[in-house]
Amino acid sequence: MITDAGTGPRVLLRRLREVMAEDIQPQARLDRIARLVAANMVAEVCSIYLRRGDMVLELCATEGLNPEAVHQTTLQIGEGLVGVIAETVEPLKLSDAQSHPKFAYRPETGEDPYNSFLGVPILRSGQMLGVLVVQNQIRRHYTDEEVEALQTIAVVLAEMVVSGALVDLEDFAAASDLLTRSWRLEGAGIADGVAMGHVVLHEPRVDVVHAIAEDPAVEHEKLTQSIENLRQWIDTTLARPDLSSTGEHRDVLEAYRMFAHDRGWIRRIREAVDTGLTAEAAVQRVQGDTRAQMGRQSDPFWRERLHDLEDLSHRLLRHLAGKTSTAASEDIPKDAIVCARTMGPAELLDYDQQSLRGLVLEEGSATSHVAIVARALDIPLIGRVAGLLDRVESNHAIILDGNSGEVYVRPQSDVIDAYAEKVRFRARRQAQYAALRDEPAVTQDGVPISLNINAGLLVDLPHLGQSGAAGIGLFRTELQFMVSSTFPRLRMQMDLYSKVLDAAEGRPVVFRTLDLGSDKVLPYFTHDREENPAMGWRAIRIALDRPALLRYQIRALLGAAEGRELQMMFPMISEVPEFVAARRLVDRELSRREKLGLKPPSKVSVGTMLEVPALAWQLDALCQHVDFISVGSNDLLQFLFASDRTHPRLSDRYDSLSPAVVSVLKQVVEVCNRHNVPVSLCGEMAGRPLEAMALIGLGFRKISMPPASVGPVKMMIRSLNAAALESYVQNLDGQAQQSLRAGFEEFAKKHGVTV
Ligand code: PEP
Ligand code: MG
Repeated sequence: MITDAGTGPRVLLRRLREVMAEDIQPQARLDRIARLVAANMVAEVCSIYLRRGDMVLELCATEGLNPEAVHQTTLQIGEGLVGVIAETVEPLKLSDAQSHPKFAYRPETGEDPYNSFLGVPILRSGQMLGVLVVQNQIRRHYTDEEVEALQTIAVVLAEMVVSGALVDLEDFAAASDLLTRSWRLEGAGIADGVAMGHVVLHEPRVDVVHAIAEDPAVEHEKLTQSIENLRQWIDTTLARPDLSSTGEHRDVLEAYRMFAHDRGWIRRIREAVDTGLTAEAAVQRVQGDTRAQMGRQSDPFWRERLHDLEDLSHRLLRHLAGKTSTAASEDIPKDAIVCARTMGPAELLDYDQQSLRGLVLEEGSATSHVAIVARALDIPLIGRVAGLLDRVESNHAIILDGNSGEVYVRPQSDVIDAYAEKVRFRARRQAQYAALRDEPAVTQDGVPISLNINAGLLVDLPHLGQSGAAGIGLFRTELQFMVSSTFPRLRMQMDLYSKVLDAAEGRPVVFRTLDLGSDKVLPYFTHDREENPAMGWRAIRIALDRPALLRYQIRALLGAAEGRELQMMFPMISEVPEFVAARRLVDRELSRREKLGLKPPSKVSVGTMLEVPALAWQLDALCQHVDFISVGSNDLLQFLFASDRTHPRLSDRYDSLSPAVVSVLKQVVEVCNRHNVPVSLCGEMAGRPLEAMALIGLGFRKISMPPASVGPVKMMIRSLNAAALESYVQNLDGQAQQSLRAGFEEFAKKHGVTV
């Protein structure tokens, strides 16, 4: 037999647990709870309002008000005192409720005699599920302990609501619209592509299953241990040399550390445990307060810090639940779209790549290391999606459009249909390209073009076979350095290069030596801050100043290529003597090998990238020293136009088919041909069919591009008449003042070239 006697939150929680266990109808349970709370809080009234739909709060049970009003009285969010609590998600206590400007009188409730009012939101994981109110006739001030006690009861009520013990979940929005509605979110498209699939939370949420503690001492002990583990995790992560590549920014971790030692935060959680909650429920209750503060905070800095504190609460919950590993170690859906606040490159590589379809981050930028890996895996990545984690739930449907930066959470059928069509179209195209894989890249008039891929990580290597490319035209060796946590040792470098050559199975591979600096920063390599890093101490400039670095790399390359052909080139050469100095290091390493009696590569070719405009005016001299030249159009155009290649406002400002570019490239090909020096181009423009067509018109016969571009470019080549294009290009001289793009487009149209 349950009696409603006894006071204090712990007693009440014990009673609530008994009510939960009773075999009664949800409404009877609600009524019972209202009665228990009123008795326990020595209040004449206790009312429970639950949210129905998006905006309405419905009186679902009351002790003290007119029972006829139950399921009749409703308030909008923001309307009346109850609506204010729902809106601000904060407690409200008043000794003279009726004089509050927001007081909304509902005659059917008969609440006129009650002057004092205390209400708290019923929250779960930051979602507002309803409002719990007590009222008294006399004008009185509710104490902080009473507010605390009512909040604790609200935590338990929230768990009951979500479990369906109190209401029919069909009728009530047990989870708020944040987690049920369709959302269209916007971020920055960082890696292209479209993906449809299901949400995988990189750091799975912990659901608090038991809100009422059996033994508070046990809960305190659990909390102590978990806080200790959490602090240790922060200290260990902060001490890691590869901090930035773990996906955790130092300032976020510093904020975590500050909060993890914040006595106030821990005291509030402990006080919540003292009221009878489990440690998990206590953390969640305090988290509710943080959210309310976040809503009030207009200063972006403090909002960000509160966001950090919320994050930290999630982590503490995960420590309490003993679930600290990421979703990568769990079974994920076959069409997984991973959602996270931030992520490091190694963490992304931990996922089963067969199942990974896309990645969405609340942070992240185009130059972040995880972006490099996403591109290598050929999955779309959208970054800077504000409010993402508040709206996604594991296994819910999600669509990403990496081209537009749009994310559709629980998309509606018209969006699904539109994207399904895009995906089908893409799949049809992919099938057409795949069918061309073993066909030669030869023009209609029999001119063979060597199509190569750009690569940089082991995960890129399967693309070589899949794309049917002739080889790897640019292997960016710095990528391995960027995704690794410490400086890759000689052996590690040699292993990678050797694997690359193995995977190439005799197809040519051009290794580019380290292009560090600018946006390619290594956390373990100290580098002074620069005003203009793209034009700063980078690439070959670092290598010549610190020759040991380059010599080790050359040593690794020579070792890996033992008995095989090796091609290497240097980045950012600006003057001929730089190339000569770098090449001398290769010669020294070759003679070292000879002295040690080690087998040399069967052939060594040493070339340079042409990325600095000044080099284009030294070609005659340069050609005396190089075995080949590869034009790096990404940097060359950035420096030609003095226009930052990573600046979003500048990305479309200058055309890669402008007369200046076309004229420089034409001259480069002519000089190289005159000296019989092979020339190729490996910037992004080579991967766009129209640009690739123009390059062929300018005389390029070898180009290198992202793997996904090989199919479209090959299709273009097989529909092209190179002779017709060359004569078109010969006649362009001096004609155009603006971009030649329209002219090339017209040529393609007229001659039936698939671009
Ligand atoms: C280039 O600059 O064109 C190039 C291929 O090198 P990266 O993009 O690595 O600078
Ligand atoms: Mg470059």
